[in-house]
Amino acid sequence: MTKAIVTGGAGFIGSHLVDELLSKGTEVFVIDNFSSGNSSNLNPNAKLFNIDIGDFQIKSLIQELKPDALFHLAAQADVGRSVGNPSEDERVNINGTINLLQGCVEASVPKFIFSSTSAVYGNIQRDIITEKESTTPSSFYGLSKLAAEYYIRLFYELFGLRYTILRYANVYGPRQLPKGDGGVVSVFLDRIKRAELIKVHGDGEQTRDFIYVKDVVSANIASLHKADGKTLHISTGESISINNLLKLIEGIHRLPIKKENAPSRTGDIRHSCLSNQLAKEYLQWQPDVPLLEGLRHAYLK
Ligand code: NAD
Repeated sequence: MTKAIVTGGAGFIGSHLVDELLSKGTEVFVIDNFSSGNSSNLNPNAKLFNIDIGDFQIKSLIQELKPDALFHLAAQADVGRSVGNPSEDERVNINGTINLLQGCVEASVPKFIFSSTSAVYGNIQRDIITEKESTTPSSFYGLSKLAAEYYIRLFYELFGLRYTILRYANVYGPRQLPKGDGGVVSVFLDRIKRAELIKVHGDGEQTRDFIYVKDVVSANIASLHKADGKTLHISTGESISINNLLKLIEGIHRLPIKKENAPSRTGDIRHSCLSNQLAKEYLQWQPDVPLLEGLRHAYLK
């Protein structure tokens, strides 16, 4: 691949993807309005377009750049914010996605790769979730990402825009802001560094499937020429409780951590573990970074 657009390339996951694409010799164009991204994340070798994905100029920009693929990561990805401001979620995550899809169709972009989320499933009680599971989001964030997925599939049906949808479990790693979808690792590490009390929402027995950011990047890159028309989990297929996660972090920190329990949050999911069998099959991909090793990288960042 010679040219790629990465929306959200100044954000946590997007900036790691940009680094990896550049290291492979790809020319990278970043579209980001810095609503949650940071210029310090952004690789200076990427060409930046500081505009909103909902902007009317997007279509002519995609037409002008004519990328070989568009990786769509820009989003309002903060679950709490989505509950307080559903319209903003809809504007960015649904309308912004439609704007990009139209731009890609008009410019005949060969591939659209979308960052979706386990939040599309909501609060379902399963030991492990497969892609066949019904989707019943319990936050406006999950709902807006699910709606975006449906638009992407219809853009393929109606206009032939090839796509892969990647539903991530909880992503963690360096550059993650202490908030947003799946930000619990960075929230804990941030508090520890400031020697502040850690608030564990609920009883701490809620479980999550944590995937290291580099593994998410490799799944995006694997999607370039594979898994057309597929919706795949990018996850480890293993889960850990928040209480046990804290124990691992405590072991890395080598000092006791101050913690207390706080009320559960609206829209929070009790258990989340995603099967990654389909991604292994269609992308010939697998997660490489064990949790303890990934946590060490995130801790040392
Ligand atoms: P992030 O907030 O760090 O990155 C999002 C980026 O998009 C930021 O740089 C932000 O400035 C940019 N952006 C937001 N709205 C924009 C707009 N209207 N126009 C242009 N740019 C805009 O989030 P992240 O954690 O890196 O997430 C990246 C993607 O992965 C998102 O689509 C998110 O829904 C998805 N995801 C993340 C996780 C996770 O655990 N972090 C889990 C599942 C899915």
